[in-house]
Amino acid sequence: MKNIAKVWRSSTAFLLSAFSFLILITSCSNELDEALQSVGNGTLQFVVSDFPTFGESTQTRAIGTQDEGKTAWENGDQIIVTLISQKYGEQAAALTYNGSSWSTEASLSYLENETPSVSVFYAPCYEVTEEGTMQLRSGMQLGMTEYLSGNYEMDNGIMTITFEGAIRTYSRLRIAGLANQTLTVTTTNFTPAGVNNSSPESGEVPQAEGSVTYTLTTDNNGNAFLYGVFAEDATVIVKQGNVVLKDYTFTAEKNPNGTEHNKSYALDARPVIDGTLGGKAEATEDDITALVEQLKEYVGNGITTIIVPGNKSAIITVGNITETAIGEAIYRLSGNGNYDENNPYNGKIDLVLPDVTEIVAMEFYAAFALNSITLPKVTTIGDMAFQGCDHLTKLTFGSVLTTIDEHDGLMFWVGEKVDGCDLFLNCGQMNSQYVPDLATNTWTILHTNEFKSITLTHTGENSECDECKKLQ
Ligand SMILES: [Zn+2]
Repeated sequence: MKNIAKVWRSSTAFLLSAFSFLILITSCSNELDEALQSVGNGTLQFVVSDFPTFGESTQTRAIGTQDEGKTAWENGDQIIVTLISQKYGEQAAALTYNGSSWSTEASLSYLENETPSVSVFYAPCYEVTEEGTMQLRSGMQLGMTEYLSGNYEMDNGIMTITFEGAIRTYSRLRIAGLANQTLTVTTTNFTPAGVNNSSPESGEVPQAEGSVTYTLTTDNNGNAFLYGVFAEDATVIVKQGNVVLKDYTFTAEKNPNGTEHNKSYALDARPVIDGTLGGKAEATEDDITALVEQLKEYVGNGITTIIVPGNKSAIITVGNITETAIGEAIYRLSGNGNYDENNPYNGKIDLVLPDVTEIVAMEFYAAFALNSITLPKVTTIGDMAFQGCDHLTKLTFGSVLTTIDEHDGLMFWVGEKVDGCDLFLNCGQMNSQYVPDLATNTWTILHTNEFKSITLTHTGENSECDECKKLQ
């Protein structure tokens, strides 16, 4: 009987082809038995195609930070090759990419006169053990990463591995939230990528029916991902602590027959509070009480960035002051104008009003709970709008302020209980009616307001505007 082994060892050379990396793997016979050693060397080359990118459907791109996800092979990526030989049984090896070439420390053996059964995967939730078997990585579940089956061709000792979009038999769900947060995601009728794969695997297989819970951490762009198939009527509940950030159903109307293979879906799971109260013109006392409780629940569950979308805030009149609902709720959370250094909500909230164009008079008066305020579209602010934001460390305007109504108290009496407040202004403010003094970090409207720092942020198209040049 003629026993000829082909053995794949770590690469010693590689060639770069026009479209891919080509690796020459030479054999090494020192792990073989006597009978096999006499046969001599075999060689194998790997050709790996480009990484197949996900397209993201247009209707979901506006949510959070756009993210096409992984677009190319990266340092440390692994492709797992499994091989079943009649003589040597099941074996697995991981090819690792170092940024320019693929290599492996493992060896795979088969007889030259047999046609081994080979599968190739990109499945980062798996690793290959020293014994040459596949297992789920610690803390990983199927569905947390891609499980991409590759095609391969073997010809004259060259294995060509290709990954094409069409062979992705699952979709991607991008959960868009805040950066670096831990989310609990519970799914029903979700089949994680890899469950239906027929290739050898030793890890446990989650139930396609019933509920599966994942603990996911969002990346620096605020995104976390699930890979798999959501059937029609599948549900996704995204929570941070006990707060439900999103409860979504893939209904027949929105997603007939569930998710489509090889498509990316986006779910907005940012911590949002509806300051419009569902489009109400006027808020009731009960509405304000509920808003205060919602703020407490968010902060209590570690959600400190709170986004309040919408430009038409519900309003409430208390005494002779007319206020937005969110402004009134923060005022009450802060102690109704009475400063208490032991209030657990002091300086806890980073408030973002992405759509609002006007801050009304006293809107954030005595808002001790605020650590920062971000106002990308505000152009008009009323008297004493920020007076008494004693814990405010950062105030950001994205647009040029064209109307500042300071006629009674100080507009920006802020940061008294902390080490002052940093002010960020659109550089176009330097050409406006209201120009701050960058040398002294003061801004005189009627009175002189002091800041810890004043920084101009350039938001126009010309990256070298005169205002920014002056600072260089
Ligand atoms: Zn500029």
